[in-house]
Amino acid sequence: MTDTSTRSADGRDVDELDIAPETGWNALFLDGEWVPAGDRDLIDVENPATRTTLTTVPSATEDDVDEAYAVAEEAQSAWGQRPPQERAAIVSDACALLGEYADDLEWLFAVECGGVQLKADFETQLAQGTMEVGAGLAMRDGGRRKDSVTPGKENLLVREPAGVVGVITPWNFPLYLTSRVVAPAIALGNSVVLKPDEHTPLMGGLVLARVFEEAGLPDGVLNVVPGYGHEIGDHFSGHSVPSVMSFTGSSEVGRGVGQRAVGAYTEPALELGGNNAHVVLPDADLERAIDAGAFGSFTHQGQECISINRHVVHESLYDEYVAGLADRAEQLPIGDPREEGTLVGPVINESQRDKIVGFLEKSVANGATVEAGGGHDGLFIEPTVLSGVTSDMPVACNEHFGPVAPVIPFETDEEAIEIVNDTEYGLSGSVHSTDVARARDVADAMETGMVHINDQPLNDEPHVAFGGVGASGLGRYNDEWIMDTLTTLKWISIQREPREYPY
Ligand code: NAD
Repeated sequence: MTDTSTRSADGRDVDELDIAPETGWNALFLDGEWVPAGDRDLIDVENPATRTTLTTVPSATEDDVDEAYAVAEEAQSAWGQRPPQERAAIVSDACALLGEYADDLEWLFAVECGGVQLKADFETQLAQGTMEVGAGLAMRDGGRRKDSVTPGKENLLVREPAGVVGVITPWNFPLYLTSRVVAPAIALGNSVVLKPDEHTPLMGGLVLARVFEEAGLPDGVLNVVPGYGHEIGDHFSGHSVPSVMSFTGSSEVGRGVGQRAVGAYTEPALELGGNNAHVVLPDADLERAIDAGAFGSFTHQGQECISINRHVVHESLYDEYVAGLADRAEQLPIGDPREEGTLVGPVINESQRDKIVGFLEKSVANGATVEAGGGHDGLFIEPTVLSGVTSDMPVACNEHFGPVAPVIPFETDEEAIEIVNDTEYGLSGSVHSTDVARARDVADAMETGMVHINDQPLNDEPHVAFGGVGASGLGRYNDEWIMDTLTTLKWISIQREPREYPY
């Protein structure tokens, strides 16, 4: 049943939060103004735990996208010429405001995203980290001087803002995944048009608009157009104005976004899906491997691109590993994320639930055994452990994106590597062994952008390159790597002495 009032079950109203704009959230953020929905269609934003409507936001149209890009283009050159310390200070102030509004944010993480407190804290930390590092980029690496092969010439490489940056983000870590592009883009003198996911338009976009507005960002530098990907996504990503198209989301949608961007001579930066493996070699510390395996599979209901999708465990440890993981899974408290102590909340929506449950049921029909969990109620799916899994089962060969831990046995390190690489994805992964050299050999052979030894794949640090290979994306985020994407190098040469030409 859908409750049409915006007041939530615990009596708080999203429009009355300290962080809410005066207009309430039912607005676009264009040219520094909160533009009311007017006669646009509305998007219902639902609390996935209670299935009640939290608020509505306008469904932006293609005309809104055109206007946002025009405004951003107009604002960019003046912003790019502002002194770097001024740009850095605004990003730092926006970052500090995230801390000041921490209570509101924690509540919004729960009611809009289904995120438990642990995840809210983790995501706020990630967002603040990326904003701190992003702010610092304004003052870094203004360019280089290179000697010339031509006598009397001086070569300068001048770093300039890329221009307008289009940003499309998903619902799973909306505040962080948006901040990791918006903050460095703004600090480096770009302007931004942002389309958050339709399930999380507040945490994925409008919240950031609010903190940047309060931090004093000039009008037009950040514009937010909440809208459905299937309605405005093609127009947004194939637009002629942006110089960079940053997309985080599924590989299927990302491929189309990348193709349309390139068709418009826009540089794509794609962070896509994963099918990450957690490899447990025969000499692993079993308890450490199980602890890491549980955290990497069940945190935020397994809804991270870098969650463990497959546990690949040596046959000598297999039974003990499965029993230990099942034991951990059964102990995890499930419930409304606002209830203290909850560790597993709801998945984001019905279509995700149906997809996860479908993979589970088909895998069981194909011979997998449920060792823990397996049930679901509303959008809550029990943390589930499956044994007897083979690489071709739906739960293993797809990115299931749920609180599901399929465990696959192997005999030799070579076979483990084959299983790990038997996917088009290549995002993250982990290897457990007490012999670090052996683990390192396996890590080297894993075709992924990131691997963590004696840990699990769920790692992201604001100063370390983040990204994948294959269907997991193009390019790297964070620090100097995102700076390269969000800037362009211009070669200016100065011929200081007359040059001798051949004719
Ligand atoms: P999705 O691709 O369905 O949606 C992501 C965004 O794309 C949303 O804003 C959506 O509105 C938009 N979109 C949809 N159709 C579009 C179109 N035709 N043109 C332009 N935009 C369009 O992804 P999702 O299911 O919401 O998110 C989960 C996926 O994101 C998973 O595959 C996950 O692995 C991936 N992800 C990757 C990273 C990473 O850093 N590599 C991080 C988080 C999530």
